Amino acid sequence: MASKSFGGVQAVRDVTIDIQAGGIIALVGPNGAGKSTFFDLMTGVQKLDSGKRIVGGSDMTGSASHQIARQGISRTFQKVRLFPSMTALENVLVGGLQKHSSVEKSKTAAYVALERLGLQDRANDSPAELTLIDRKRLEMARALASEPSLLLLDEVMTGLTPREVEDAVALIQQLTNEGVTVLLVEHLLKVVMRISKRVLVLDHGLLIADGTPAEVQSDPAVIEAYIGVPKKDQNADC
Ligand code: ADP
Ligand code: MG
Repeated sequence: MASKSFGGVQAVRDVTIDIQAGGIIALVGPNGAGKSTFFDLMTGVQKLDSGKRIVGGSDMTGSASHQIARQGISRTFQKVRLFPSMTALENVLVGGLQKHSSVEKSKTAAYVALERLGLQDRANDSPAELTLIDRKRLEMARALASEPSLLLLDEVMTGLTPREVEDAVALIQQLTNEGVTVLLVEHLLKVVMRISKRVLVLDHGLLIADGTPAEVQSDPAVIEAYIGVPKKDQNADC
């Protein structure tokens, strides 16, 4: 169970999510629902106000983010966080060092990750030289370089063309075929419902639904939560 408040805002309220290994699990909800904050709580970027963080059966409630990363959990940030003075390769290499003990091994993993995201020709560029979408790809490459078992993706498809969305979906599905479990925060509900085995819905910091795409889509509480959400946010892929 996890809770987090910022001043008077209860961003995450007593949410318990049990992630079993395998496949794509989506975390959806209107803007401000607490999705990114929940990722922060899972990855130790924010401290929990109350509740517990259990990783692989071990209590990691008090652990720092690098300790959690070492357990095989990596993520992207909705608001991209890269080291501006480092090259793209160096940024990804830092991710690789979460897992690999030598710089050489991390460099190899970094090149593989850059290639998977189509950024192999941008290795020596600085993040500022990349478009926002490529910076998001670079974050994903950094997350992949640590060869995670659980990968948290926070709105990595925002701003992509339909063709690019399908490329991203293919990559995510390939990762799950390789044994990576993916927790996906995404506004493209059509895509989410098509590719996820399980969908979690947050609204105002509360977990209001947890089930298969079919169960969640027919849940009255979910339908109500999305009423009032602008259509372009709700069905951005239509
Ligand atoms: P989502 O990712 O679902 O859009 P967030 O987790 O970003 O939602 O935000 C949940 C709520 O917490 C929002 O009301 C947001 O304004 C607030 N919030 C998030 N991060 C902070 C912060 N660092 N300081 C203050 N308020 C925050
Ligand atoms: Mg968010």
